[in-house]
Amino acid sequence: MSLIGSPSTATRFSFEVFPARTAAAALALGHAVQHLAAAGPDFVSVTYGANGSSRAETLDLLRYLREQTGVLPMAHVTTVGSSRAELRELLHGFLDAGIHDFLALRGDPPRGVPEQDFDPADALSSLELTELIAEVRAARPPLTSVGRIAVAAYPNGHPRSRSRAADLDWLVAREQAGASMAISQLFFRAEEYLGFVEEARAAGLTIPVLPGLMPVTTDRQLRRVAELAGQPAPPGLLAELEAAGGYAPELGVAHTVELARELIAGGAPSVHLYTFNRHEAVLAVLRELRLLTPDPLA
Ligand code: FAD
Repeated sequence: MSLIGSPSTATRFSFEVFPARTAAAALALGHAVQHLAAAGPDFVSVTYGANGSSRAETLDLLRYLREQTGVLPMAHVTTVGSSRAELRELLHGFLDAGIHDFLALRGDPPRGVPEQDFDPADALSSLELTELIAEVRAARPPLTSVGRIAVAAYPNGHPRSRSRAADLDWLVAREQAGASMAISQLFFRAEEYLGFVEEARAAGLTIPVLPGLMPVTTDRQLRRVAELAGQPAPPGLLAELEAAGGYAPELGVAHTVELARELIAGGAPSVHLYTFNRHEAVLAVLRELRLLTPDPLA
């Protein structure tokens, strides 16, 4: 049962995974997913490749989650590269497979196309996708679609941000269209998320905003994540990872635990952990935060 959004309940958590690209990676992912599921997350979300490139693999993994674990699967859906009719068909396919929860995204531009060169008019917006999901649900027999719609939020802005006020209005518009939660892009400092949520509330947003966190294991991963977040990597953590020879999962775990503690103290209802398809680091974070009851690996 989801307790997201109620300030009087214990902090909850959820995970993100992505479809495996090789048979060996799929075996490892199956193992990781069993551990993640045993932790009792609110949901596990599955990414969707740029340009709809992982459509079959995403659906396979969602089915596996639904049929082989007790967790609630959430499908990322992106619009880039798909027409409205194709998206409608895709959504019905997910719903037919028992997948009711969606993260509605415009999606990354096709591989090799920089964000600034991508014409947003070439794809449905995340607002239009949110509306389409609501429309597709409404057209189905009652009680066959009862899930939620999530959307993305960017505490430090997005390359397409016009202004902070426009970003917040855009988020509020998607809540009005049917979104019941937002999930944030990665960030490194608690005040970035907390300030964003405070301003979003002032702009009229009422849905929960889940902070997206990732315990990095290597300096390379930290640099990549910093690029995604559009923020410089925390210099202290980067220096420590480099000094440790590049690979030091315990440092990423400690940094994420500290950040999560500040977020929870500031009112975050739940934490959304980017797993990178591994269970060890994210479960170590939850164990440190005392959010695992019972601890599945104890
Ligand atoms: P949009 O809704 O277009 O918003 C992007 C930004 O553009 C907004 O934040 C806003 O600043 C601006 N903007 C756009 N339209 C307006 C408007 N009308 N008015 C004002 N401002 C506007 N990508 C994938 O390809 N697959 C995935 O599985 C995936 N999962 C993700 C999960 C999370 C939690 C996040 C945060 C991102 C994910 N992404 C994924 C990346 C995402 O697709 C890209 O960041 C993409 O560039 C933007 O998607 P969006 O849905 O936020 O787009």
